[in-house]
Amino acid sequence: MARAGSKAFPVPEHDHAACIGDAMAMAEDLCRENGLRFTRLRRQVFELVWTSHAPLGAYDLLAMLNERGQRAAPMTIYRALDFLMAHGLVHRLNSRNAYIGCNHPGDGHAGQFLICRDCGRVAEIEERRIAEAVRDGASRAGFDVRLPVIEIEGQCFDCRGARHG
Ligand SMILES: [Zn+2]
Ligand SMILES: [Zn+2]
Ligand SMILES: [Zn+2]
Repeated sequence: MARAGSKAFPVPEHDHAACIGDAMAMAEDLCRENGLRFTRLRRQVFELVWTSHAPLGAYDLLAMLNERGQRAAPMTIYRALDFLMAHGLVHRLNSRNAYIGCNHPGDGHAGQFLICRDCGRVAEIEERRIAEAVRDGASRAGFDVRLPVIEIEGQCFDCRGARHG
């Protein structure tokens, strides 16, 4: 399949405004259904996190907000990010100390993240078998899993030059 992987890593020339639009619509639905306040700042931070498919650090986000004429303090950004993370709208990548937008938001989900070493893009996948294996192994160790996030480094389809047409 020539375009395998294109769902996780969209072609570079894809319509990213559509990605942002979809993500924003899903976030609005989630907030409405759960009675959460999607304040202007939370919305702005969410939109900035979605600038691309590569993760951004809190200070990148702060700089971008300030460029837009907002004078937000670092604490404000962290609080907005905490809210977004708590509701599964963004995820934090520990290895990058950066945040990535989620395209299937919802409380309490934590997937696996494929991180491209070359272009920095990240794709979130959810392999149920991995989650189950982590849960089983942890429970045998008497361990209470709080954040079963797994970060996997490698090279994406495009950087491998594997994409055709
Ligand atoms: Zn996109
Ligand atoms: Zn997610
Ligand atoms: Zn790549």
